[in-house]
Amino acid sequence: MRKSEIRRIRKLALRRVERLLDFAVNHYESYPDYAVAAVRTAQRIAMHYRLRLPPELRRRFCRRCGTPFTGAGTFRVRVRSRRSTHVVVRCMACGFMRRYPLGREKLKYSSGSKSAG
Ligand SMILES: [Zn+2]
Repeated sequence: MRKSEIRRIRKLALRRVERLLDFAVNHYESYPDYAVAAVRTAQRIAMHYRLRLPPELRRRFCRRCGTPFTGAGTFRVRVRSRRSTHVVVRCMACGFMRRYPLGREKLKYSSGSKSAG
């Protein structure tokens, strides 16, 4: 398989993943089972094609239980500033927690005690 072909297929796969996640987020309230199944399928496609999902897609679902993060009630976000500033996203369905570091560039230049909004 040629390289350009692989790239084309990956692009298509990524589009499918996006569509599945859209579906999951939009239909979670009325069809939670289908929504979770859609997330699982999206995860499988991403794995199969070894796609690196962009952050805005990765943060739209719980990678452990597959619950799409649709809004209040499905996840909880906390900002923690001890050690390094980071955001903690907690899935309300299974309790899985994920940390996302914040302001890495800023920390590089300042010695850390003050943090800007
Ligand atoms: Zn979960």
